[in-house]
Amino acid sequence: MPELPEVETVRRGLEPAVLGRQIVDITLKRKDLRFAFPQRFAARLLGQTIETVGRRAKYLLLTLSGGETLIVHLGMTGRLIVEDSRGTLEPGAFYDDSLRHAAHDHVLITLSDGARIIYNDVRRFGFMDLAGAGALEQNAHMASLGVEPLGNSFNADALAKMFEGRIAPLKAALLDQRHIAGLGNIYVCEALHRAGLSPKRSAGSIAMPRLAGKRERLAGEIRAVLEEAILAGGSTLRDYVQADGTRGSFQQRFRVYDREGAPCQSDACGGTIKRIVQSGRSTFWCSRCQR
Ligand SMILES: [Zn+2]
Repeated sequence: MPELPEVETVRRGLEPAVLGRQIVDITLKRKDLRFAFPQRFAARLLGQTIETVGRRAKYLLLTLSGGETLIVHLGMTGRLIVEDSRGTLEPGAFYDDSLRHAAHDHVLITLSDGARIIYNDVRRFGFMDLAGAGALEQNAHMASLGVEPLGNSFNADALAKMFEGRIAPLKAALLDQRHIAGLGNIYVCEALHRAGLSPKRSAGSIAMPRLAGKRERLAGEIRAVLEEAILAGGSTLRDYVQADGTRGSFQQRFRVYDREGAPCQSDACGGTIKRIVQSGRSTFWCSRCQR
């Protein structure tokens, strides 16, 4: 499943291909993805010029000249493929190309320069929506999202405020999109290990004054691990064959994720990475250096 760094990689790759272009044709191959397409979806997109390509959490946000915003969520297996004069490109290609089958091309958009943008999604957990002019914040998908982890309002103080008094495990609280939006399982495991914090301790414990230093470190490591992953083009998971050098490579730098039984890489730790299950998700961690 693409997490924030992967979606940001897609955003950066998509932007130069669509910015300033007008949508001249759109074909919907079905009535729905995970959810039904919004009312008059194709008609509302037709003739619009794409003015900005942004991101909020794991949502791609394309603002249109008429004032509406196209919201795209890639779900588990959503892919955006660009066919233009340069050939076929897939920004942030996390999947083996052999998995792309035209039967799963669900949305085809033609732009004014002749380029085609194809939305392909094998499992159809992705979706698209349109938010009215000035109504993005009120959109059902946006309204409950927590702070953006790479935004200016995310820091140690924000962590203290959101977790104060909470008895939920720190790992679960960090994954709760109502607190921090866009942070997923891989990067939470990595950030907790880098910060030397146990995924099992209560979220509220890091709000305590005596843990101000740890809290500062966690906020910094969350930001750092996301930024490093974006620079590496995201992570390509081992389920998917790597076919070329354009794919994300951050998985080569995982210190705990998917490393059960491997030695801990922290200096002079000597521990072994363990896997436990929390809220139905695998947590990879080192019980020796994460307290
Ligand atoms: Zn360790």
